[in-house]
Amino acid sequence: MKKWEENIRKVSPYVPGEQPQTGDVIKLNTNENPYPPSPGVYEAYCAVDFGRFGLYPDPVSGDLVRALEKYYGLREGQVFVGVGSDDVLSIAFQTFFNSDRPILFPDVTYSFYPVWAAMYRIPYECPPLDENFRIRPKDYRRENGGVVIANPNAPTSIGLARGQMEEILRANQDVIVIADEAYVDFGGETVLPLLDRYENLLVVRTYSKSRALAGMRIGFAMGNERLIQALGDVKESINSYPMTRASVPVGVASLEDEEYFREHLRMVMDTRAWSKGQLEKRGFQVMESQANFLFARHPEMSGEYLFEQLRERKIFVRHFSGERIKEYLRITIGTDAQMERLMAALDEIIPDLF
Ligand code: PMP
Repeated sequence: MKKWEENIRKVSPYVPGEQPQTGDVIKLNTNENPYPPSPGVYEAYCAVDFGRFGLYPDPVSGDLVRALEKYYGLREGQVFVGVGSDDVLSIAFQTFFNSDRPILFPDVTYSFYPVWAAMYRIPYECPPLDENFRIRPKDYRRENGGVVIANPNAPTSIGLARGQMEEILRANQDVIVIADEAYVDFGGETVLPLLDRYENLLVVRTYSKSRALAGMRIGFAMGNERLIQALGDVKESINSYPMTRASVPVGVASLEDEEYFREHLRMVMDTRAWSKGQLEKRGFQVMESQANFLFARHPEMSGEYLFEQLRERKIFVRHFSGERIKEYLRITIGTDAQMERLMAALDEIIPDLF
């Protein structure tokens, strides 16, 4: 090893789902939205002033922050925006988890949490989900340095009722509790109404799923003004101008077409119900989903085999190798036509059943 190599930071990075660069696949592996964003978003994007690209953008993305505060009925100073919720969460980990007590998140959850914890040298412990893959609020009643709950959880798709989230909040008033609500618009129960009661609660959201804007990288956090101020201070210590000139007006425009938003959420949820039924007909066990994906296993076929077989047919789903979930597939809800193609492929792979 070269001398200089000794000082290189060694990390085991988060591995995102594959992003094939050809259009020729059915992509059900990263929980993107299969529909385009609203026409107003397109107009806002086209109206971005190219002549000002040479100038840095507003460092605090004020237009977007104000639009989100208004949309969610919050006070000034209660919203923080970032480059996707991964950016927001990463900054939140750095801002709020600075004790030597372990932070807590479930053993099966968004696999970026342990990566950030390792990256920022935050000790962590992972209470196991119960045998039905549900979070047990009582597991979060021990001393800790903070709590992170994805609700609905990923990759299980299962949501936690607000009352159960409140049980976790009540037991953890001396640390920051992050509710990662990336998927909540698809039928989950938000803890936003609890913001005023729990000044230590941070709710993190994204434009990548329900707002069909993964490519623009917009995420945000909502919370007490002091938490938001603290996030801003850390962000200012890393990157003054994370959001581009295009993402701010696009983010604002997305909030302005509520009808389009609701209609497309409904479409995803209808396709989810149909797909769950179809998978069950083919022998799959499918978790009750409150997200834009299904988590399913086939009792007679290994998760890895199904993943590979689908991949050969150019249908990309997500498979994780973790011990408890290695027999499962996480399948993003696509369009009806995409889900029909998925079912047809499964009929080829699991022929005996039909
Ligand atoms: N939280 C959860 C639970 C997720 O599944 C994802 C998507 N990978 C994110 C946050 C991050 O999404 P984004 O950075 O696109 O907002």
